Amino acid sequence: MHNLTLSRRGLFGGIAGATALAAIGAPRLSLAQTTPAAPPTFYDRRVGDMTITTLLDGYIPLGLDVMVGVDAAAAATDLTAAYLPPAGPIPTPINAYLIRSGDQLTLIDSGAAGAFGPTTGRIATTLAAMGVDPAAINRVVLTHMHADHIAGLMAGEAAAFPNASLHVAQTDLAFWTDEAIAASAPEAAKMMFTLARAVAAAYGERVTPFDGDNVDLGGGLTSIAMPGHTVGHTGYRLSSGADQLIIWGDIVHMRALQFTTPDISITFDTDAALAVETRKKVMAMLATDKIAVTGSHLPFPSVGHVEVKGDAFAWVPEEWQFL
Ligand SMILES: [Zn+2]
Repeated sequence: MHNLTLSRRGLFGGIAGATALAAIGAPRLSLAQTTPAAPPTFYDRRVGDMTITTLLDGYIPLGLDVMVGVDAAAAATDLTAAYLPPAGPIPTPINAYLIRSGDQLTLIDSGAAGAFGPTTGRIATTLAAMGVDPAAINRVVLTHMHADHIAGLMAGEAAAFPNASLHVAQTDLAFWTDEAIAASAPEAAKMMFTLARAVAAAYGERVTPFDGDNVDLGGGLTSIAMPGHTVGHTGYRLSSGADQLIIWGDIVHMRALQFTTPDISITFDTDAALAVETRKKVMAMLATDKIAVTGSHLPFPSVGHVEVKGDAFAWVPEEWQFL
């Protein structure tokens, strides 16, 4: 069931996304780390006897032109209601996470490092400010292999986390490291493939692909297949005792629009129709089960709940949790 299938829609989605990426001036081919002047920004939250820390990597100003299916008037209403610029661009955060469980350190994604310019790439300095040695990270678990999630895995040509195993859905790894798909991708998209292959090479035998949905990765983490944004896009359930938190990766890119209109997709989706279907399914599940969720591009500190509102959804940010 997890065989890689490539639709024309998928490839065109990639092309559109690449063009849009080029339009916002990113990503660059350089894998160099940046050290932005912005202060380290992170948020600790407990899940049972574990701590999950949201690591703010920075932000990308996303124009409305990268969103698909936007009605300009409705979007302007939603953005105005959120006190955001009604015509965009929207400063969109990039988050990764550090999970501390006993003496095990797990990173979920790694931020954009230098791939998206000087507004991103804070995570290396944030980890240093927290006193976390990159060599002490036991494993990195990926939601998917887009550059804003994996560029931080590299320190030049080498692995930024030299002792970490790297866990990623087999389908995503297969797609982004496939030379034939890369060869047929437009120029602007090739960087994504180049980066994914560089990551796979740098982590070598420590790359540990897993097969899709409901895989127990240990340390309280279970995979939840959330395909569409990429072929192997994966969320995670973090459980400790009765406490749970869902990490949903890129189910939402633009908070002010995609809860009220979950049909809105983004040009970077490999399969936009599937991404929409998955978004609705995941939001409905979270609203029913009342489980807290965090997402890569939700407003920092990026934890909250989903509620049903009319025939769509609403985001209810969680109040700051004091440890
Ligand atoms: Zn992303």
